[in-house]
Amino acid sequence: MNHFIYRDKELYCENVPVRNIVQKIGTPLYIYSHATLKRHFKAFNDAFKGVNKLVCFSAKANTNLAILSLFSKLGGGLDIVSGGELYRGLKAGYASNKIVYSGVGKRIDEIDYALKMGILMFNVESMEELEIVDQRAGLLKKKAPVAIRVNPDVDPKTHPYISTGMKKNKFGINIEAAMEAYKVAAKLKNIKVIGLDCHIGSQITQTGPFKDALYILKTMIKDLAACKINIKYLDLGGGLGITYNDEEPPDPVEYANAIKEVIGDTKVKLIFEPGRVIVGNAGILVTKVLYRKSTGVKEFIIVDAGMNDLVRPTLYEAFHAIKPVVDSDNEEIKADIVGPICESGDFLALDRNIQKVEQGDLLAVMSSGAYGFVMSSNYCSRLKLAEVMVNGDKFQVARKRQKYEDLTRGEIIPDFL
Ligand SMILES: *Cc1c(COP(=O)(O)O)cnc(C)c1O
Repeated sequence: MNHFIYRDKELYCENVPVRNIVQKIGTPLYIYSHATLKRHFKAFNDAFKGVNKLVCFSAKANTNLAILSLFSKLGGGLDIVSGGELYRGLKAGYASNKIVYSGVGKRIDEIDYALKMGILMFNVESMEELEIVDQRAGLLKKKAPVAIRVNPDVDPKTHPYISTGMKKNKFGINIEAAMEAYKVAAKLKNIKVIGLDCHIGSQITQTGPFKDALYILKTMIKDLAACKINIKYLDLGGGLGITYNDEEPPDPVEYANAIKEVIGDTKVKLIFEPGRVIVGNAGILVTKVLYRKSTGVKEFIIVDAGMNDLVRPTLYEAFHAIKPVVDSDNEEIKADIVGPICESGDFLALDRNIQKVEQGDLLAVMSSGAYGFVMSSNYCSRLKLAEVMVNGDKFQVARKRQKYEDLTRGEIIPDFL
């Protein structure tokens, strides 16, 4: 359930007609529902009631400060993958000791920044990274809290671009090498081994792969304990899927029960890094129909949002439901819904059955709250969109639409020209 619903054939976000927001802010734009965001975060958190845990929202799914700040106020931690996300997280009010840092390619300046701020832990993804973290911590006279990200080699049964926990993926240290990695880490002077981490992929719609990974990690915790390496934090990553079309992912309670069943009485603090499941269905992209045309073999609906605004359809072959903001009862046609960009890959939907639309009609691209705005770009010098947050019968701009001046900011024409 989310708070994008029709009343009298008109799409609302909570108590605000989407049309009213568009009148004020224009299109294209992202709209987020505060009530949905809050409900999703709480549902996830409450599913683990009584469990020693920290839910660290995965910032990369949606880094808008308004959203980060909301989850911080609800008591969450943050999962980051860059120095930039650390900066945003601190700005949004997260205590640094609630921040975990994942990513295969942490730069030295980013590692130093995180060490200075005193984050909860580094999820280290290679032996060379481990060495660098140790060196930098030594130079800064710190002890770096570390978990090793293990690649358990389980198939998450998702799109290949968002699977991360198989041997062919670049993430983590493979399970056979992980014990050795821990033994090395335990001997490093400036490293404090505190955790074990994995993240097997995204948009996972069954509990099986999570359980498979957890069995492997649980065994590993025992093996580590036998070597006097004590794991305090077990980070299970994110990856829980959502319904875009007809998927039936486990709800947070089902997911939590599956985890609890396997974890048993293992004495660790659990860390979760959910992204999509919290924000995905809490946001929509609203776009306007610019033109329609037919090539004889195909109908096209050309809208004012393109792949630079929402890249998921073209990057992941992802399905997003597209709904009219005002339901017209028109007959359905089959059309490609495409953007204004000069690429054949610039589409929001292909061969989609959709109510016949007119020029100027508004369309809502549903389930766009995760990996939407954050993956947007200025390609074709298109302005980055506005983001709006709705709360009850009010709404507020959470990010201003860019202006032309923003496009050339920082660009310099060299003197020799
Ligand atoms: C992207 C990512 C997540 C969040 O994944 P979702 O599928 O959005 O839940 C969590 N942890 C890590 C390390 C990630 O890279």
